[in-house]
Amino acid sequence: MKLDTHTFDALILGGGGAGLRSALALTLAGHQVAVVSKVFPTRSHTVAAQGGINAALGNITEDNWEWHMYDTIKGSDFLGDQDAIEFMCREAADIVRELEHFGVPFSRLENGKIYQRAFGGQNLNFGQEQAHRTCAAADRTGHAILHSLYQQNLHAGTRFFDEYYALDLLKDTHGNIGGLMVMNIHDGRYHVLQSRHILIATGGAGQVFRNNTNASINTGDGLGMVLRAGLPLQDMEFWQFHPTGVAGKGMLISEAVRGEGGVLKNSLGEDFMQRYAPHAKDLASRDVVARAIAIEVKEGRGCGPNKDYVLLDLTHLDDATIKQRLPGIRDISLTFLGVDPAVEPMPVFPTCHYMMGGIPTDIHGRVVTPDENGEQQIVKGLYAVGECACVSVHGANRLGGNSLLDIVVFGREAAKTISHELHQNRREKTQQAGSPETALCLDAVRQRIARWQNPAPSTDTLAAIRKALQHTMEMGCGVFRNQASMQHALQQLLLLQQRLEQVTLSDHSQVFNLQRLAAYELENLLAVAFATVHSALNRTESRGAHSRVDYPQRDDSAWLRHTLYFSAGHRLDYKPVNLHPKHHAAFAPTARTY
Ligand SMILES: Cc1cc2nc3c(=O)[nH]c(=O)nc-3n(C[C@H](O)[C@H](O)[C@H](O)COP(=O)(O)OP(=O)(O)OC[C@H]3O[C@@H](n4cnc5c(N)ncnc54)[C@H](O)[C@@H]3O)c2cc1C
Repeated sequence: MKLDTHTFDALILGGGGAGLRSALALTLAGHQVAVVSKVFPTRSHTVAAQGGINAALGNITEDNWEWHMYDTIKGSDFLGDQDAIEFMCREAADIVRELEHFGVPFSRLENGKIYQRAFGGQNLNFGQEQAHRTCAAADRTGHAILHSLYQQNLHAGTRFFDEYYALDLLKDTHGNIGGLMVMNIHDGRYHVLQSRHILIATGGAGQVFRNNTNASINTGDGLGMVLRAGLPLQDMEFWQFHPTGVAGKGMLISEAVRGEGGVLKNSLGEDFMQRYAPHAKDLASRDVVARAIAIEVKEGRGCGPNKDYVLLDLTHLDDATIKQRLPGIRDISLTFLGVDPAVEPMPVFPTCHYMMGGIPTDIHGRVVTPDENGEQQIVKGLYAVGECACVSVHGANRLGGNSLLDIVVFGREAAKTISHELHQNRREKTQQAGSPETALCLDAVRQRIARWQNPAPSTDTLAAIRKALQHTMEMGCGVFRNQASMQHALQQLLLLQQRLEQVTLSDHSQVFNLQRLAAYELENLLAVAFATVHSALNRTESRGAHSRVDYPQRDDSAWLRHTLYFSAGHRLDYKPVNLHPKHHAAFAPTARTY
């Protein structure tokens, strides 16, 4: 196999908000940077973010970063690392102003300031009245941010490998990170991209579940790569199920709808959230609202012929609010439900939305892994930011509006780290330029490529296995889980693994790049599913989005710690939660009510 080789100071794997924010800073700092993306960058999932980005700007009510920090820690069910959360909340106001200067067209208040809406789990004064902290560009905030960042990158001169699929990290003979194996999706040819600094920003993996809000490309490729490189994933038992997906389909109806005044109702017409969260009601934290909906349906108070959803009602809002603040939601509702939300309530049900876990990093974006003594060590040359990373600012449950913040804050910070290291090590930079391809170990990735190279007859298909995987995860490891449901899921996953080992790409006419790509993605989805089920089975408590029917209580004495999962032998390890913020006293875990 002939391989073209290209060398860069830094490689950014992923053209979503996280990758583009990092790339921009590195290009502006004068480094040779390439962004690799399996889709055209502005099609990355960031484009779909609706509701907004959090920052305590105080444009509507008084606000400050300490209140934001407290809400994020409480929202995380105290599993979030307090140093990282503090860092993110302190950076928030500055990073939103920076986005404004990059050209993000935020919605405005009468006085010209950025519009901020109410979002779930966010309060003033350490848990008192509802906050208005989520800065929005109508209900298309992610679209506005991603396009602005892409334009800034074009202007700065960042190099793009659009529609290139990255298979695996490459190490040199000393075990150091040295490059990426990628496939050009157009012609199916493989290339080696060399760099001593690789940042993974591959986004989420919501495609592990049948009903989800994610783009179909969100298959956890960066996570699969990291596991194959012998590194762990952190807190993979924590998946956010968004309370309001389009019933039966899964697309997102943003929390902005409830932020603007929308109310959830059951078949009796009750505003049932009053019973579950008497204070915050419909704007309680997402895990709380998702569970409430699942319980209403389970107890027979669901709506529709099969009583399998609840209604999200905003018919009492005036037309102007809906058209001005929620135009995208109205479109989604009309397209996928045939319902005009100004006239009729929308059928909704929880849907997999966000991955709180991911590649463990420190607050500078550097990937970390424990050594044989359990001490956390930095993996030289490897960085991760955005939804694929676990820094961990979301802990066991993310607050709406905090992911767009996470991706730009840590995107910028990781770029600072890489730039600093590149400047410090000019010598290394000159040495690496022109170093031959043979310096990298290619055997493992060549085997993976060979596995999917030769077509042969097969009755099974990749599509059937992917579908079964999504179904297994939804049934066994969804909003509510228990030992039996997860053990069953694990057995199914083992069978799916066997099927994946045996299936071939049988149709000659289609054994082309897209079929191979589907195979690589499925390998990653399965790796993520195993990480999830093993991590979830072992955590015998309920915390945030991890709700075990058989262990309904949070257990801080045993479980106030992060899970680390290694794919070799499905080994688990644990590390403490950081309870040492720098500028504010720590928040001790307390009972979490809304
Ligand atoms: C419908 C929806 C609405 C949301 N709304 C909000 C909101 O209002 N506020 C908020 O804070 N958060 C929101 N979120 C969450 C937030 O949008 C995401 O967590 C965030 O945008 C992820 O950004 P990212 O840069 O990490 O990844 P992404 O934007 O998903 O980008 C991932 C990139 O990696 C590339 N990639 C992946 N694998 C490979 C591979 N193998 N080879 C090459 N390239 C690869 C992709 O091409 C893509 O460019 C929402 C999420 C969804 C799904």
